[in-house]
Amino acid sequence: MSLRQIGWLGLITSILLIAVLPVPEFWITQLNYIGISSLAVLGLILLTGVGGLTSFGQAAFVGIGAYTSAYLTVHAGLSPWLTLFVGLALTGVCAVVLGWITLRMSGHYLPLATLAWGLSLYYIMGNLEALGKYDGILDVTGLSLFGWDLGHGRVFFVMTWALVLLGTLAMIHLLDSRVGRAIRSLKTGSQMAESMGIDTLRFKIGIFLISALLASVSGWLYAHFQRAVNPSPFGVHVGIEYLFMAVLGGAGHVWGAITGVTITKLLADQLQVLLPKLIGTSGSYEIIVFGVLLVLTLKYAPEGIWAFVDRKLPKPPRKVDWQNASALPHRSKPAPGEVVLQATDIRKEFGGLVAVNNINFAVQSGQIVGLIGPNGAGKSTTFNLITGVLGLTSGSITFRGEDISGLASREIAKRGISRTFQHVKMIADMTVLENVALGAHLRGNRGAVSAMLHLDRTEEQSLFREAEFQLRRVGMGEYLHELAGNLAMGPQRLLEIARALCNDPALLLLDEPAAGLRHKEKQALADVLRQLKSEGLSILLVEHDMDLVMQVTDRIVVMEFGTRLIEGTPEEIQASPEVRAAYLGTEH
Ligand code: ADP
Ligand code: MG
Repeated sequence: MSLRQIGWLGLITSILLIAVLPVPEFWITQLNYIGISSLAVLGLILLTGVGGLTSFGQAAFVGIGAYTSAYLTVHAGLSPWLTLFVGLALTGVCAVVLGWITLRMSGHYLPLATLAWGLSLYYIMGNLEALGKYDGILDVTGLSLFGWDLGHGRVFFVMTWALVLLGTLAMIHLLDSRVGRAIRSLKTGSQMAESMGIDTLRFKIGIFLISALLASVSGWLYAHFQRAVNPSPFGVHVGIEYLFMAVLGGAGHVWGAITGVTITKLLADQLQVLLPKLIGTSGSYEIIVFGVLLVLTLKYAPEGIWAFVDRKLPKPPRKVDWQNASALPHRSKPAPGEVVLQATDIRKEFGGLVAVNNINFAVQSGQIVGLIGPNGAGKSTTFNLITGVLGLTSGSITFRGEDISGLASREIAKRGISRTFQHVKMIADMTVLENVALGAHLRGNRGAVSAMLHLDRTEEQSLFREAEFQLRRVGMGEYLHELAGNLAMGPQRLLEIARALCNDPALLLLDEPAAGLRHKEKQALADVLRQLKSEGLSILLVEHDMDLVMQVTDRIVVMEFGTRLIEGTPEEIQASPEVRAAYLGTEH
């Protein structure tokens, strides 16, 4: 039995023990409220902690679940088991519409938008006659199944905590999957994710939806446990409280949800008794303590309390179970000599600055073309034009005969262009293997639900097999289970190459792959590039290391101030007095 299984068994046993032992009713009730809130906070862990999207509106989604079920059971006489799904559907529609509108916003606009949305829902709940205004809806039915009362104490406790543990398990499964890696890539900014073919807006809406659905279940439980609803537990201040719990527990950890809720609730109980005694008057003074606590947490334990536990937990490397997985299908490759990439008069202006000035060049199948020039010449901008990160001011780019000008990054990735970045972009808290598997995103198709149910294992094995293969190909076999954040610059760049290769590209764009590499590593890189070329891959290489460029390239395009100075074979370039003056002369 693995340590993980022992942990789960321990949790399940403790819940059953609490249910059968003579634990005072007061504590069972407390644990019920902790369980109910944990579901809502679990959603925030995914949305805010993992996905980096801050929402103050989580309590509003709890409210939708609670009010829908309360209203329909009381006024339409429906069964709570039915209204659960009505509530989920309504929450889902709200989340998708709201997400679609707000998740395009960046920076502080999103939290502000969720604040506005949380406030407006609170006032709607409080002002609608049908929902009982600020008095809410009373006498909500309790939960029962075939006459068996589930709505009280210990039975409700077991049911609630079964849901919390199932939700937690589903979340753990989700984060360790193709979809999960895409979600974890959202925080690093959209550029890298999109160039791996990930539709970042879709995944943002996805986690907003999952998070809202968890809140809705929490609201449903609340309504039928409390037997009444009114607007106050769904207001913005509770939305902030949920965020506080997530941060305190550890927003980046799935177990941070239960940890944060438990500590906050227990502390609130103690403070409500203790503070009035100390101060002499009663009031919600615990809020002040929580405010101070939040500041202290952010300063001294920004990863939350669970992070301390997590550090103590043993982390055995991922079990290698993919040796016999089936290989992923490959795309058809260009014929030898075929023109893979053709850039015609491509131009990019940034305001008055012409960064790329009507450049022309072509890359043939199996060729390595070097793009060189002093800093600021427009090389990275050219890369961004080819990969769709930036739009062309004018000109056109065709890839394998298809006009790709104006396509989104992920569409270009889909067609078989992969790239690395001048400034390495990776997910530091994921292993090297997982980072590289992200590159194979487009070669899988399993979604969130199959990930949560662990039905995606066959595909996962194929993805990991591919990731391991590409890592070994670039000489990174030693580093599979290392955290990417622990790598030195050389291995980081090789990680990016392996990740790009996972997309099975026909054209590979490398932006200064040798920067920061030691001499031996550069030699190894040159070998890798030659090997890739011999396999028919075309490569466009931006590089300052002239030895490497002269060794591996077939043709070289020299840029200066956005224009093409000269194009030719490495010998021609080396012999050119123009290049010596403009480039080599200044660099060497
Ligand atoms: P290189 O990669 O050859 O060093 P770049 O393509 O990064 O050069 O930059 C070319 C020129 O375009 C530089 O003058 C740079 O300052 C400018 N530039 C690059 N990106 C942007 C941008 N997003 N906005 C404004 N100017 C930019
Ligand atoms: Mg550059």
